Amino acid sequence: MDDVRNPSGATAIKGTGVVAGVAYAPVVWVRPRPALPEAGATLTEDAREPEFERFSAAADTVAERLADRAATVEGVAADVLTATVGMVRDRGWRRTVKKNISAGHPAEYATVAATQKFVGMFEAAGGVMAERTTDLKDIRDRVIAELRGEPEPGLPDVEGEGVLFADDLSPADTATLDPAHIIALVTELGGPTSHTAIIARQLNLPCIVATGEGLRQIPAGEFVLVDGALGTVTRNAEEASARATVLEFRERAAVIAQWRGPARTTDGHRVQLLANVADGNAARIAAGTQAEGIGLYRTEMSFLSTSTEPTVEEQAAVYRKVFDAFPASKVVIRTLDAGSDKPIAFANMAQEENPALGVRGLRIALGNEGLLTRQLDAIALAAEGRGENAPTWVMAPMVATESEAGWFAGLCRDRGLTPGAMIEVPAAALMSDKLMPHLDFVSIGTNDLTQYTMAADRLSPQLAYLTDPWQPAVLRLVKETCRVGEDTGTPVGVCGEAAADPLLACVLTGLGVTSLSAASTALAGVGAQLSSVDLATCREVAEAVLDTSGAAAAREVARQMLLG
Ligand code: PEP
Ligand code: MG
Repeated sequence: MDDVRNPSGATAIKGTGVVAGVAYAPVVWVRPRPALPEAGATLTEDAREPEFERFSAAADTVAERLADRAATVEGVAADVLTATVGMVRDRGWRRTVKKNISAGHPAEYATVAATQKFVGMFEAAGGVMAERTTDLKDIRDRVIAELRGEPEPGLPDVEGEGVLFADDLSPADTATLDPAHIIALVTELGGPTSHTAIIARQLNLPCIVATGEGLRQIPAGEFVLVDGALGTVTRNAEEASARATVLEFRERAAVIAQWRGPARTTDGHRVQLLANVADGNAARIAAGTQAEGIGLYRTEMSFLSTSTEPTVEEQAAVYRKVFDAFPASKVVIRTLDAGSDKPIAFANMAQEENPALGVRGLRIALGNEGLLTRQLDAIALAAEGRGENAPTWVMAPMVATESEAGWFAGLCRDRGLTPGAMIEVPAAALMSDKLMPHLDFVSIGTNDLTQYTMAADRLSPQLAYLTDPWQPAVLRLVKETCRVGEDTGTPVGVCGEAAADPLLACVLTGLGVTSLSAASTALAGVGAQLSSVDLATCREVAEAVLDTSGAAAAREVARQMLLG
């Protein structure tokens, strides 16, 4: 019983790690946002003009305060603050507030309603625009606080060191935070391209976004251990071991900063390191790292807020942005993994009791082949002109049977595309000898493979001890997949979060995995670890790990064998 829920009282909340790094410090929550007013009393005609002046004065004060802060910082931080000042001064927004006040609404409500209109427009535009709605809500809250004479919402004063927690951080908050005091950032909402992530990257602060509501249970002042590579916030960690983890991380960070690819073990065994991306922006960032190409392009992420299916040409334009970031390298693109936690409006999914076990991933295409074939047409169109040295591989998510693999491969080959499949359903791993003859490659999605092997929802913070890719049960399925890969000469990659863990990367290499794909920020850490060990040791560690009884023991065995 080495990995029952809570061997030392520690529990973890998981989010999306966007900047690697480890920190141990008490939690600091951002100051709360003002309560938003409902539509209320109607202003008399003669009160409306002065009310707009009151709004203008408050908005001007907020703009000046932010402009002053912009003048004290540099680089992206200054750009972000200047952009926010531009929003507070935006004529369209102010005109809408004025219209609302002219209709009789008090300034606070007029501000809320005007902002809501713009938030709706930004959300409908989707993508990067949708992520900017945090900025709009931030200026709304600052103006409302100013109108009420309340303190400005946002960063509190921090003595010593703290881990900053927030629902979502505004650009103005992130742009002015002081890394001498704030040593990590964790947000309930946000995405990898949100301002929080951009600034955290610039300041090199460990950062996790999108943890979900579980974060709110952690009060200010409680010590937490943040791991930005794994995306975990651990509560009740044992202090001495948490501090040792931080120290170890700092020593390793110095080595990692020096590491240059390509990745190989000390005896020259090559492992291809690739990046997981969600859009062209992430691909461009990845191109500036040691990534040798892209190992997982999650196409569904480009369409989360798109209500109607984009045309083949529109899709091709989106995909081309990712391909263009790697014009002379391999790109593995995944067809829409819609459903479950990634609803796509145009995929027409019915409500289901258990969406993770329902019609998701490739299963949607079984009843709607056109959705898949149009996407494959778009991929083929976007890939036109990519040379021999820039192969485009296409894989399907959630493949469970040989007939699904064969059907998908046929559709790809008809279009001159190289077919592969995600191995993320246990059945696919167990039947890989039947699936692989149809395919040119496979990529193991350890996130879902773990979820389905352990029968534990990957989004559940309580079940994080089960949804751990170190579970030997999961690694045994990886081993079986690699065995068949070796027998049939089929490359076997891993593109789940497991590939971002440097020690687990050694285990996966020992099991026979040929490429690892992870967030680009994690790749140097993985490469540096691989370059400190030989293949025989990776194999020995893998065997030892497979023989343990649970994730905690597996991790500990690997730590001892690889780090001493
Ligand atoms: C996985 O399941 O491991 C995977 C890479 O796919 P996603 O996380 O997008 O479901
Ligand atoms: Mg998956």
